[in-house]
Amino acid sequence: MRTRLAAVGALLSLTAAAHAQSIADVSAQLRDKALAGSPAFPILESLTTEIGPRPAGSPAQKRAMEWGLAKLTALGFQNVHAEPFTVTAWVRGPEAAEVVAPFPQKLAILGLGGSVPTPKEGIEAEIVLFHTYADLLAAPVGSLAGKIAVVTQPMVRTQTGEGYGAINPVRTSGPSEAARRGAIAYLHRSLSTAENRLPHTGALRYAPDAPKIPAAALSVADAELLDHMAARGQPIRIRLSLDSHTVPNAPAWNIVGEATGREKPDEVIVIGGHLDSWDPGTGAIDDGAGVSITTGAAKLINDLPRHPRRTVRVVMFGSEEMGGAGEAYAARHKDEVAKIVLAGESDEGPGPVWSVQYPKGALATPAMKAMSGVLAPLKVYVGFTPATNSGSDVEGLQILGVPVIDLHPDATRYFDIHHSADDTLDKVDPKALDQSTAAWAALIYAAAESDIDFRAIAK
Ligand SMILES: [Zn+2]
Repeated sequence: MRTRLAAVGALLSLTAAAHAQSIADVSAQLRDKALAGSPAFPILESLTTEIGPRPAGSPAQKRAMEWGLAKLTALGFQNVHAEPFTVTAWVRGPEAAEVVAPFPQKLAILGLGGSVPTPKEGIEAEIVLFHTYADLLAAPVGSLAGKIAVVTQPMVRTQTGEGYGAINPVRTSGPSEAARRGAIAYLHRSLSTAENRLPHTGALRYAPDAPKIPAAALSVADAELLDHMAARGQPIRIRLSLDSHTVPNAPAWNIVGEATGREKPDEVIVIGGHLDSWDPGTGAIDDGAGVSITTGAAKLINDLPRHPRRTVRVVMFGSEEMGGAGEAYAARHKDEVAKIVLAGESDEGPGPVWSVQYPKGALATPAMKAMSGVLAPLKVYVGFTPATNSGSDVEGLQILGVPVIDLHPDATRYFDIHHSADDTLDKVDPKALDQSTAAWAALIYAAAESDIDFRAIAK
C-alpha cells in the first residue's frame, strides 16, 4: 500500500512538473513575441498623441475614456465597458512666483494638486527656509505665523523608487504641517532627481485639523537658488500667486476589457495601470506606460489560439493621482472579490523590469517556480520576499484579501520626469516597454493557466 501511495505521489508530482513545463513553454513564446515588438508602444503612442494630458474629471479624461473603449474593442478584448464613478476634479489656473527681495527674480513653480488658490492679488511674505523636513517638523507651533514655509530637502535617486516614498510626506503632508505652525503658504523642492528647471507637481493631502494654505513645488534649480540666497542671511520675500478651482462630482471611469478564461472564466486576474495623468506633460511614463504594458500583455494572451483557463482582465483606472479609482473598483467588485485570484498594477514607468515579487507561498509552486527560467533571459529575477503591495489602484482589492504580484521596473531615471512637463513619449524606450510587456505577459499567463490558489497558499 505504502509503495503504491508513493508511486501515485511520484506520478502526481511528475504530472505537476509536466504541467508547469507546458505553462512555461507558452510563457516563453509570449515573452519572445513581446520582445520582437509588443503591442505596447503603439498603444502608448496613440494615447499620448490623440489624448495628451488627462487629469481625472477633465474633458480630456472623458476623451480618454472613449479612447480606452475604442482601443480595447479594436484590440479584440471581450466584455469591454466603462464603470463610472465620481471625483472632485482639481483644475489648475495661472500660476507665478518670484523673489521680490533681496535679489528679485522669477521662480519656476507648479501648484500641488488639490491646493487652494491664493487670493487674487497673490501672497507676499518673508520665507522661513528649512533644509530638511525634520527641521520643519521641529519648528514650534506659531513660529511660522505670517510666513511662507520652504522645504528644500533633496530626493535620493534609487533603482527601486524608495527615494520617492521616503520623501513623499514633504509634498503630501508638508502643507498642513507648515499651516499648523502658522505659515500662510508652502513651497517645497520638487520630488525630483532631474537637473533641469522643470517643477514636478503631485497631490497634497490637507489634514482635517489644519488650515488649508496654498502650496506649490519649486524646480530643483530654484530650490537650490533659494538655498544660496538664504546662506547670505538676509530676509527673503517671495510673491506667490496660484489660481485653481474644483469641480465636485465630476464623472470618471474605470475602463475594462477581458481575455475570457477557457475553463474557469469566473476566476479573474486583474491587471492594469491608470489612465489619468497630471496636466503639464502627456502622461507617457505616468502612467501611459503602465496602461500600455498591461494592455499589451493582455492582448498577447488574448491572441493565443487557446486562452488560459482563467480570465485576464485589464483595467485602465480613471483616477489615481488625485485618488478614488481603486476605492471605486473595490466597492463595485466586492461581491466578486473571492473570485479575483490575483491583482497587479504597473505604475512605475516603462521599465525595463528588473525583479518581481510573488504573493506569499507562490514561489514554491511548480508553475511559478518554472517562471524563473522564463524570466532569466529578460534579466528579471524572482525576489525571495513576498509582494506587499503592487499599486495604489489595486490596494482596495488587496484590503479585501486579493493577493498581489509586484513587478519592479527600473526607476533610476523615472523621477527625472515623473509629474513634470517632461513626461512625454520621447522619453520612452520602446525596447524597455517591450521587455516589461514580455515579463507581464509571461507571468500573467502562468498565473491564469495554473490552478494555484494564491489566497490559500499565503496562509
Ligand atoms: Zn502613476
